[in-house]
Amino acid sequence: MTGTVYKSTGSWYTVKTELGKNYQCRIKGRFRIKGIKSTNPIAVGDMVDFELETKNDETTGIINNIHDRRNYIVRKSVNLSKQTHVIAANIDQVFLLVTIDNPPTFTSFIDRFLVTAEAYGITTILLFNKIDLYDKETLDEVRYLAHTYRKIGYECIGISAETGKNIDKVKHLMTGKVSMFAGHSGVGKSTLANAIEPGLELKTKVISEQHQQGQHTTTFAEMFDLSFGAKLIDTPGIKGFGIVDMDKEEVGDYFPEFFKLKQDCKFNNCIHVDEPKCAVKQALDDDEIAYSRYRSYLQMLEGEDEHYRTDNWD
Ligand code: GDP
Ligand code: ZN
Repeated sequence: MTGTVYKSTGSWYTVKTELGKNYQCRIKGRFRIKGIKSTNPIAVGDMVDFELETKNDETTGIINNIHDRRNYIVRKSVNLSKQTHVIAANIDQVFLLVTIDNPPTFTSFIDRFLVTAEAYGITTILLFNKIDLYDKETLDEVRYLAHTYRKIGYECIGISAETGKNIDKVKHLMTGKVSMFAGHSGVGKSTLANAIEPGLELKTKVISEQHQQGQHTTTFAEMFDLSFGAKLIDTPGIKGFGIVDMDKEEVGDYFPEFFKLKQDCKFNNCIHVDEPKCAVKQALDDDEIAYSRYRSYLQMLEGEDEHYRTDNWD
């Protein structure tokens, strides 16, 4: 049988078949996925093959194969080994919620997020939330940011999870796809989830409350089937996703507007900093490239170690 992993608790996986039947499955023996060093061999979103086993009237599944992943996102493992933890696999798109204030979302955060998503091969859509709260000046800022990011190819929508403004547009984009919501704590991820699917409770809240009580809880991602034909992966406590090890020369490849110009730079290994006849710096002088984007780029180049880490979100 074949199905998709909806939930994992470490040793048990909830796998749903195409016919919509859920099975509790375990992994057969110790199996590893080639090329991946992660603490969990299977993650939410994975497609797996399994066999059924019945013992004492109880039918469970044994997973014996995992299908190739289109993409997957990881976070650093809590232990000090170099291993990572796969948060989820086979994601179509991430909605990054952005608020201008309460809480503020800085462009450095947005850009770092976008670079990571590009490196992972995941489409990002920017949702500027809480527009019902903003005065004219703040709305102008939203418009400016939306213009900046649309120009380089990212879809941007101003929404209010509270009043329902443009929620239909979000639902439309989600239909038939596997999505995730990301963004700082307090930007409105849970409120949005509830606006698109009343009754759906994301776990983000629970986590922060438990944190305040000083409890340590291990949390797991979970996939939900929404009533309008969309899938949403809830990733408790995760604002972004991380660890992309890339070379200095590679960072610019994940800024789409820089990448387009790269072929016009004099040197083919140009990192757009001090080189002569650099098309990116020329475009910056001509106001074709947003200064905030270039500033984020320089910040990423200055990463304190040889890895351009994108998992330090604060
Ligand atoms: P999360 O941490 O990203 O899940 O954020 P929440 O969904 O818990 O939202 C944080 C706070 O912002 C809550 O008090 C929400 O009621 C409020 N909020 C969320 N979206 C909106 C919105 O569109 N407009 C307004 N005015 N408040 C919102
Ligand atoms: Zn250049």
